[in-house]
Amino acid sequence: EPELAGDFGTLMEWADKHRRMKVRTNAETPEDCRMALAFGAEGIGLCRTEHMFFDAARILAVREMILADEEAGRRAALAKLLPEQRGDFVAIFSAMAGLPCTIRLLDPPLHEFLPQRDDEFAELAEAVGVSVEHLKRRAGELHEFNPMLGHRGCRLGITFPEIYEMQARAIFEAACQVSATGGDPVVPEIMIPLVATRRELEILRALVDRVAAEVFAEQGRTLEYMVGTMIELPRAALMAGEIAQEARFFSFGTNDLTQTTLGVSRDDAGRFLAPYVEQGIFPRDPFVSIDVDGVGQLVRLAAERGRATRGDLKLGICGEHGGDPASIRFCEEVGLDYVSASPYRVPIARLAAAQAALG
Ligand code: PEP
Ligand code: MG
Repeated sequence: EPELAGDFGTLMEWADKHRRMKVRTNAETPEDCRMALAFGAEGIGLCRTEHMFFDAARILAVREMILADEEAGRRAALAKLLPEQRGDFVAIFSAMAGLPCTIRLLDPPLHEFLPQRDDEFAELAEAVGVSVEHLKRRAGELHEFNPMLGHRGCRLGITFPEIYEMQARAIFEAACQVSATGGDPVVPEIMIPLVATRRELEILRALVDRVAAEVFAEQGRTLEYMVGTMIELPRAALMAGEIAQEARFFSFGTNDLTQTTLGVSRDDAGRFLAPYVEQGIFPRDPFVSIDVDGVGQLVRLAAERGRATRGDLKLGICGEHGGDPASIRFCEEVGLDYVSASPYRVPIARLAAAQAALG
């Protein structure tokens, strides 16, 4: 495992003396956690749970769940996924040893979970005992022309609440299990993605609170936890004052916020952004470095409106921009509490946060 030794390690220690913002990491495996910790991460700012669902051993149950005709079928498939998901969080909470962990509930573009090839349909049909034709028809019903603007994020939790219930249960059961082994108790931070309205968050926070109460009653133990949201849609940024009534923290999802503010697909931007930057239409690639006139204004406004509602609202960023030095400087100006970057960018984020704090 890496270690920041010698002069580089010393430089990092100096940087840490000067920075105000915390540096967290985006991680969803214990390996990534350990790597990030070795690089000095002070917590997880974003654990993307959809990555766990692609695990080869699980994808069948995931597809069964997504393609089930009704709630009972989804619940049966989710029951198979619960122990695995609990194991994911036990591993992460254990690796992070009491440091804050923000776990984001499921946010996949749905099509990524659907079977694509005939052999995948055949395998699933055999496993669940329905015809390939039936599954294909169901997949057709779920087809979306624009999945990134579609049935993902909290919309999934609103329409299929049993998915978020399973995940919340897995998080709380894992937190209880790890807290019972001694050391600092786990304080899970549960994050709801792609929120646009206060009401979405109100509904899903109530769901999380209900599951927490159930698990704590079963386990005979109570833990602190927080529910917060990503701010990654312009409407959420504009309505941050209201949304903060339901949120203990905001994390700026600047990947989606850039996509939705500019109306530029984050997946296809490569086709034309380079000439845009060459001609000075954008000073830098806005998916790399925060576009201060667009996304930046929304971040600033959401931070102000959110904090006006809730003075102790915790603010962070977990889009790719959280590992970009110019963006980190902007985050310091806006007064964010932390940035979150992929493990390999944690050292540069520590340095950039210190430089930003020094002015
Ligand atoms: C984001 O949108 O900035 C974000 C961190 O979430 P994801 O990249 O998973 O959509
Ligand atoms: Mg996002």
